[in-house]
Amino acid sequence: MRQYKIAVVPGDGIGPEVASSAVQVLSAVAEKYGFGLSFKEYPAGGCSIDEFGVPLTDETLEGCRASDAVLLGAVGGPKWDKADASIRPEKALLGLRSGLGLYSNLRPALLFPELASASPLKDVSEIDLLIVRELTGGIYFGDHGRFSSADVLSDGQVKGECAFDTESYSTAEIERIVREGFRYAMGRKKKLTLVDKANVLESSRLWREVAERIAPGYPEVSLDFLYVDNCSMQLINRPSTFDVIVTSNMFGDILSDEAGMITGSIGMLPSASLGTPGTPGMYEPVHGSAPDIAGTGKANPLATILSAAMLLRWSLGEEIAADNIERAVKKTLADGFRTVDIAGDGEGVTVLDTVQITQKVLERI
Ligand code: NAD
Repeated sequence: MRQYKIAVVPGDGIGPEVASSAVQVLSAVAEKYGFGLSFKEYPAGGCSIDEFGVPLTDETLEGCRASDAVLLGAVGGPKWDKADASIRPEKALLGLRSGLGLYSNLRPALLFPELASASPLKDVSEIDLLIVRELTGGIYFGDHGRFSSADVLSDGQVKGECAFDTESYSTAEIERIVREGFRYAMGRKKKLTLVDKANVLESSRLWREVAERIAPGYPEVSLDFLYVDNCSMQLINRPSTFDVIVTSNMFGDILSDEAGMITGSIGMLPSASLGTPGTPGMYEPVHGSAPDIAGTGKANPLATILSAAMLLRWSLGEEIAADNIERAVKKTLADGFRTVDIAGDGEGVTVLDTVQITQKVLERI
C-alpha cells in the first residue's frame, strides 16, 4: 500500500478548525483509493510562541522536512501583534518557506459558477487563472534597515530617520520560477504573463531578459509582459483573459489577493508552496487566522480542503483522489450548501457551520 507522512501545522485562530476539516477529507479519500496517510501535528505561529517562546521550533521544521507534505492552517492573531519583530507569528511562515526551500507559490483563482454573485465584479462569468509567485527572494528577504541622514531636502527640511528595503534577484532565482511558469502554462491554456515594473526597476528588467531567453524553449506558449499597476487594473477589467501569471515575491503577494477577491470569497482560495522535486511541499489556505470568527463555527473550510486536493496532486501524485475532492466541493456548492461568508443574501441556499459543511463534502466523496 502507498504510504505517506503528512505534517499538520494547525496554527492559530481558525487554523485548527479548517485543518481538522482537511484532515478528515484526506482520510476519506485515502480510504476510498487505498493509500495510507499518517498525520503528525506540529505547533507554529502564536501557539508556538506561547509554548516555546519562538514562532518556529527546530522540531517543527525537522518534522516538516521529514514528511512527504505539509498541511498548514493559518498563523497569527492580535494577541501577538505587539511582539518583537523577530518573534512574530508570521516568522514561522517565512522560516518554513526558507527552511523547506519553497521558492514557488501557486495560487489558483477559480470562479465557481455557483458563487458568481459573491464576486465584487458585475457580469463575471469565467475566472480560471494561476498566479506563480516567487517566494524566497526579492524585497521580503533583501537587506533592510534604518539609518539617520543629515541630508537637507530641496525645501530646506532635514531628512532625519530613513528606512530601506532592497529588491534583489539573481538570474538563477528568476530562471527556475519562470521555467515553472512556462511548464504550468503548457498544461493549461498556454499563455504566460510576466508581471513586473520594468519601466523603473532594474531587477524587473532582468526578469524580462531571462523570460525572453527561456521563451524559445516553449514555442507553444504565448508570452506577454504587463507592468504590475496595469495588471492590477486588467485583473478587474478582463480577468477571463489571463492564464498563468508569473511574478516576483511582493507583486505576487498583492496580485494573488486581488485575484482571489474577485472570485468571491477568501474562504475558497487554496495555495501550494513548492521547492525542488523530492522536497515536501506546503499547502495552506490563502486566508489568515480570522481571529474575529475563531471558535464561532463560521470558518469556511473549503480553501483548506481544496489545498488538501493540491497536496494530493502536487506532492503525492494522487491525481484521482485530488479530482474527487474538487468534484465533491463543487457538488456541495451546486447542492446549495454554503458557509456564511459565501451565502450572499441567503436566498435559496442552506447556511451551514464549519463541521456541517465538511460533513457535506465527506458525504459527496
Ligand atoms: P484574515 O484572512 O484572517 O481575515 C480577513 C477577513 O476574512 C476576516 O473578516 C475573516 O473573518 C474573513 N475570513 C478569513 N478566512 C475565512 C474563512 N475561512 N471563512 C470565513 N471567513 C474568513 O486576514 P487578517 O484579518 O488580515 O489577519 C488575521 C491574522 O491572520 C493576522 O494575525 C495575520 O497576520 C494572519 N495571517 C496569516 C496568514 C497565514 O497564516 N498564511 C495569512 C494572512 C494573515
